[in-house]
Amino acid sequence: MIFRIYTLFPEFFESPLRSGLMGKAVDSGIIKFEIVDIRHYSEDRFKRCDDYPYGGGSGMVLQAEPYAMAMEANESGNALRVYMTPSGRPLDQNLVKKMSGYGEISILCGHYEGIDQRIIDRYVDEEISIGDYVLSGGEFAALIVADAVSRYVPGFMSNEESLIEESFESNLLEYPQYTRPCEYGGVEVPDVLLSGNHSKIARWRLEKRIEKTRAIRPDLYKKYLMRKILGE
Ligand code: SAM
Repeated sequence: MIFRIYTLFPEFFESPLRSGLMGKAVDSGIIKFEIVDIRHYSEDRFKRCDDYPYGGGSGMVLQAEPYAMAMEANESGNALRVYMTPSGRPLDQNLVKKMSGYGEISILCGHYEGIDQRIIDRYVDEEISIGDYVLSGGEFAALIVADAVSRYVPGFMSNEESLIEESFESNLLEYPQYTRPCEYGGVEVPDVLLSGNHSKIARWRLEKRIEKTRAIRPDLYKKYLMRKILGE
C-alpha cells in the first residue's frame, strides 16, 4: 500500500512513521509513504503557497498552482485521491475498509482556511472529515486515515483476528479487556474470564458489547438492532 501525502509540513510525519506497528510496516515495505513537500513546487521566490481569500474574510487560502504542480509531478494515475477537510464525508470503519481496497491513496493536507476549491474540483475523488471539530492542519487527519487503513493491509497486524471483534464490527463497541494481575487496586477480573468456558466468555463479551453500545452510542445500537431484525 502506498500513501502519498501532499503537505506543507513534511517533517510532521517523521516520528509517527518510525513508531510501533507503522514503523515495522514501513521497514518491511508493506506500507510505503511518499511525502510530497508542496512548498517545493511553489514558483514564488519566497516559496509562499498561500494568499488572501477572494471576497475577503479572515485567514489565508492555499493556492492552486503548487498543489497542481505537485500532483502532476507525483501522481501515478492509479490512486484514490482524498482531501482531508472538516466539511467532508465522516470517516468510519466502512469507509476505512473500502479505502483499504486501493493500492495507492493520495492525501491532500490543507492548512489555514483550506485549499483553493479548483484543486478539489479537479483532483479529488473524496473529501473526508475525521470528525466534527476543526484541526489546524490536515496532517493530523492524514495520519489517522493512514493508520486506520493500514490495519487492513495484510501483514500489518501481528494478529489479524483481532480485527474481527473490534469496536464497530457488527455495529457494536468492544467488550472490556483485562490482563494480569488478576487483582488490581482491590478489583478482580470478572470470574467468567477465568472460567475457561469459551461459550460463556463469548456470551459475556457480547452482553458487554451490547450494554456499552446502548449506553454510549445509541445511534450504533439502533443499527445493530436493525441488522438483527433483518437477519443480517
Ligand atoms: N476553514 C476550514 C473550515 O472551516 O472548514 C477549516 C480549515 S482547518 C483550520 C485547516 C485544515 O485542517 C483543513 O484544510 C483540513 O485539511 C484540516 N482539517 C481540519 N479539521 C479537519 C477535520 N475534522 N477532518 C479532516 N481534516 C481537517
